[in-house]
Amino acid sequence: MNNISKVSLVALLVSSAAFAEEPSSKIIFKNVHIFNGIDDELQRDQHVLIEDNFITKISSAPISAANAQIINGQGRTLMPGLIEGHGHLQMNGTSLPDIENNRNWEELAVRSVARARSALMSGFTTWRDAGGMGAGLKKSIDSGEVIGPRIYPSGAFIGPTGSHADFRNFTTPNETFNGQLSAGGRLGMSCTADSIGDIKACARQNYMQGATQIKVMSSGGVASSFDPWQLNAYSKEELEAAVEVADAYGSYVMSHAYSKVSLLRNLDAGVKTLEHAFMFDKDVYKQMKEKDAFMTTNMTAFSPYLGQIEAISSNPASARKAATAQAAFKDYLDNVNKYKPQLGFHVDCVGGVFACEQQADHSIYLSGQFIGNYYTLKSMTSTNGRMVKLSGKVLDPYYKGKLGVVEVGAYADLLLIDGNPLKDITVIGANEKWFDAPKRDGIKTMRVIMKDGKIYKNTL
Ligand SMILES: [Zn+2]
Repeated sequence: MNNISKVSLVALLVSSAAFAEEPSSKIIFKNVHIFNGIDDELQRDQHVLIEDNFITKISSAPISAANAQIINGQGRTLMPGLIEGHGHLQMNGTSLPDIENNRNWEELAVRSVARARSALMSGFTTWRDAGGMGAGLKKSIDSGEVIGPRIYPSGAFIGPTGSHADFRNFTTPNETFNGQLSAGGRLGMSCTADSIGDIKACARQNYMQGATQIKVMSSGGVASSFDPWQLNAYSKEELEAAVEVADAYGSYVMSHAYSKVSLLRNLDAGVKTLEHAFMFDKDVYKQMKEKDAFMTTNMTAFSPYLGQIEAISSNPASARKAATAQAAFKDYLDNVNKYKPQLGFHVDCVGGVFACEQQADHSIYLSGQFIGNYYTLKSMTSTNGRMVKLSGKVLDPYYKGKLGVVEVGAYADLLLIDGNPLKDITVIGANEKWFDAPKRDGIKTMRVIMKDGKIYKNTL
């Protein structure tokens, strides 16, 4: 080995040591109460053995193992790492027009690294990215060069001209007619598809770039300029085209959908997860149950502070849409509490580190208020853990174990928390304040953060 490569090897070892403590092959959490991600009460006075990156033993009797590192929980709560069901690490400008006009790849990439670190240090050990990035950041995290959650990327959003996936300015030439790409198109964040052939081509391109599932924009949205939220953007045949490609990969389609027409059409076409799903009701529930489908919803849509979010307040079209949408979605929470669908937690933040920490903390708080702490915690752990696994044995990057549960055989993605989150959800960061919340450096009551058997935080 020459001197230069020796130096770079040393530099590499030093920098990786700074990121995470080197894994002990065995770690024991002793004296913990367990929230397992599924049950509505804690399993009291337990001991948990981690070998390499898996949970291998859970026992009410003390566990001993040679050379194991011991973490004495002293009656704290051990729970699964949190899972973001629908986020956008690469969408880190202040709004969609801002991302289109003012941010080049370099700034978006650097900011996504900061967002990934912030997500992990807020307890999110897995992240389903709902569009806007391929597998580049994920690969950098999995290889240990960058710290962040496990990522299930969706690649570029797929939607037709003028849809929620169309970030262009009014004067930007059309991709389909003129062959000129928007910045979103050039950066691989969005893929305009106005025909069944184009939908299939966009989906295949995403899988080629490392997507684990496909994201389509099948109805209008709020944070974009040209699409009324009432728009049903894709026909059943068009949605079936996306599902056909996903099926061929053993994977699935997640679909941005608001209206009841759109929700039912998606389920008919074989879409497995409904995103936002604000017009969820009894009929949608019946179909979801038949098809074993999931939905995820951003609870901030029901926050009194929604209008202050920069992606909305900076875009007059969005501000107007947000007001009518909130009025139209008034039955959502009652219906969710009545039918209890397979509901995944999602924050869906577009923005930088500070804004997204504020939004995540407020989302957890709202969810606890609206649907209760237990349903919220389940949605953030075991429900999202089952949902991400829809990407199938072949494409699932983390196929060797379960996520979102404290169970023998599950990945060792764990949080050790002061207090009981089932009783008081602020112990995992929930905050009643949104835009008034002060900057924070992690969450003080989150004492240990472990991902894949490695400890990223330990303040015991
Ligand atoms: Zn989204």
